[in-house]
Amino acid sequence: MPRRYWLETLGCPKNDVDSAKLVGTLECDGLIPATEPEDADLLVVNTCAFIEAAREESIETVLALAGARRPGAQVVVTGCLAERYGDELARAMPEVDRVAGFGVPVSLSAPAVPSLDLLNLRRPPATAPWAYVKVAEGCDRACGFCAIPSFRGRQRSRTEEAVLDEVEALGVREVVLVAQDLASYGRDLGRAGAIIGLIERVGDLVDRTRLLYLYPSELGDGLVDAICATGVPYFDLSLQHVSRPLLRRMRRWGDGERFARRIADIRAREPSAAFRSSFIVGYPGETEGDHDRLMEFLSEVRLDWAGLFAYSEEEGTYAAGLDQRVPPGLVAERLAELSELQDRITASRRAELVGETIEVLVDRVGVGRSHREAPEIDGVVGLPHDLPAGDLVDVVVTGSAGPDLEATP
Ligand code: SF4
Repeated sequence: MPRRYWLETLGCPKNDVDSAKLVGTLECDGLIPATEPEDADLLVVNTCAFIEAAREESIETVLALAGARRPGAQVVVTGCLAERYGDELARAMPEVDRVAGFGVPVSLSAPAVPSLDLLNLRRPPATAPWAYVKVAEGCDRACGFCAIPSFRGRQRSRTEEAVLDEVEALGVREVVLVAQDLASYGRDLGRAGAIIGLIERVGDLVDRTRLLYLYPSELGDGLVDAICATGVPYFDLSLQHVSRPLLRRMRRWGDGERFARRIADIRAREPSAAFRSSFIVGYPGETEGDHDRLMEFLSEVRLDWAGLFAYSEEEGTYAAGLDQRVPPGLVAERLAELSELQDRITASRRAELVGETIEVLVDRVGVGRSHREAPEIDGVVGLPHDLPAGDLVDVVVTGSAGPDLEATP
């Protein structure tokens, strides 16, 4: 009887890609998916270590699966938590059979020595009409709050050919390109700006090319034009804040005025452009004035989507040594105020679409997305149940509810 695996993935889209590749190695090894964790011979948890809450969720998931496993089943922990806290984690969690950092095989017959190039490993064809494709690993920046470069290492871009081969093999209609610092793709290969050529070539293979995580200083006219030409004018800008002094304390580029100008320019060029960004609330030194500036920015710029996150101190980062901590109660207050404002803005931008004709990709029966919604992150478009998954269809928006729309052909 074939042995079975259960794979649980936590964290960001980049982890989803790694998991798809791990599934490829497990299935090559003769394992088949289990229907329940309790039926599996091997339980793999692909963890996230981005912030404290993500680490806690990862550990809880490992403990829950270890508790549910049947006698003799093995639990393997991989991903960022395994990479960052390998030995410490192995010592602290005796219920785990193996801690496998990046590139360490996770299968039952796994050798003890790292041997996988996770970034370029082949993966099984996609099961949805869209898929993430990771084009680079690691990051060369030094943002004050971020521990990622310390455990994911310096940026390592894949070759254009490797990315295009993967896109072709996936057989999807929409590809979502991801990396820690996507716009810098190719710089480590001596090819700064290579993202533009990559977008164009991916666009020749699929109907939709979407980009996630763009560092704002990299968003030049060439890249804006290339994104608009894909037919998915969706801009996920990693802004993190708008106060100039605070951004410098974060060791990041830009300020609210520059960001607002760039967004206005893009809207003038492409009125249907959609914008997402993420912001950190309560970074050390954030004043009441900084918070007010962020509130004003959100009100004026009216992003379609925004992720707002409480600052989480990460061991070994530049920010961990900064003074002027913001008390947790005040962080929670600011976060609630910003979230309430952004929820209203998102709902009102969505309501403005009622009556418009939009093109949706049917992700599954009853659910689709236009260019304005990234999969698994933004709202969705509710559709009639007779539209088959995988179709691209023109529909008219008939209603909105918070982040979601209803539409019909
Ligand atoms: S660009 Fe992103 S991954 Fe790189 S250091 Fe900054 S926050 Fe971290």
